[in-house]
Amino acid sequence: MKRILVLVKQVPTSESVRLNEETGTMIRTGTDAAMNPLDLHAVEAAVRIAEASDQAIAITALSMGPPQAASALREALSLGCDEGILLSDPAFAGADTWATAYTLVRGIRTLGDVDLILCGERATDGETGQVGPMVAAMLEWPVLTYASRLEVCGDELQVGRAIEGGMEQAACPLPAVVCVLRDLNDPRLPTLSGKIRAHEAALRILGASDIEADSAHLGLGGSPTRVVNVTYPSFRRRAELLDARQDGIEAAIVRMQRFLGIEETGA
Ligand SMILES: Cc1cc2nc3c(=O)[nH]c(=O)nc-3n(C[C@H](O)[C@H](O)[C@H](O)COP(=O)(O)OP(=O)(O)OC[C@H]3O[C@@H](n4cnc5c(N)ncnc54)[C@H](O)[C@@H]3O)c2cc1C
Repeated sequence: MKRILVLVKQVPTSESVRLNEETGTMIRTGTDAAMNPLDLHAVEAAVRIAEASDQAIAITALSMGPPQAASALREALSLGCDEGILLSDPAFAGADTWATAYTLVRGIRTLGDVDLILCGERATDGETGQVGPMVAAMLEWPVLTYASRLEVCGDELQVGRAIEGGMEQAACPLPAVVCVLRDLNDPRLPTLSGKIRAHEAALRILGASDIEADSAHLGLGGSPTRVVNVTYPSFRRRAELLDARQDGIEAAIVRMQRFLGIEETGA
């Protein structure tokens, strides 16, 4: 094995991810962002494979996103990745999972010579869990999902898959895509030297023409999924004080039932 590629997505750190109700796209401005938590486990898995190998294995972190997604790549570099590549172009904006996978695959094909792709099982914002398997399908590579154990034995991957009620042992030849769970490992913290190296590293930034992407498959226009409606539940708070000592317990129960909108039991 010569190169492991880790897919890294930058996600908002806030739990309140909101969608633009008109366009159906995510609102990312004004929110703090970091690497998708499961992608930290994918990075850690890649670094451990490289550390355990007697051959030199390069680890490339790849992300598609706006220019600020560079900080997620720097985080990956600080944790042991060797290079960071950002696919960034206004043409990529508004991509659904299919257009995201297409763009990532164009980037992967431009790089060439990748033996193993690791990614998180799902991202905390979009949460579809589709991108890893879609990348594998477009590359026509095998994919192993729900990986909570991972071992490379020569040209074969052995993966423990967390399934309902147990663990499935699966094996497949390389090259392959593996979508990892958090049980796989405990990600390390960056060292000071790792942070300095990441800060000083030059990232490669590739646009649509660099990856020879077909513009018809990019961004919102190239996305077959349409968010047709986005609504948020409306919350209403009201309160009523029941004084059972003054009104009597029965009257208080009746008022409580009415307040809760439940049928009166005649208690
Ligand atoms: C019509 C439509 C419009 C949308 N518009 C926008 C938009 O404007 N902006 C926006 O951010 N999202 C938008 N989305 C959501 C967008 O589809 C997802 O954020 C994106 O495709 C990834 O899907 P996910 O978050 O479900 O990833 P998952 O499939 O849950 O992610 C699994 C793993 O795949 C990898 N991965 C996922 N995305 C990336 C990436 N970009 N780069 C590198 N690795 C990645 C990571 O390793 C991640 O852990 C839109 C969705 C739809 C349907």
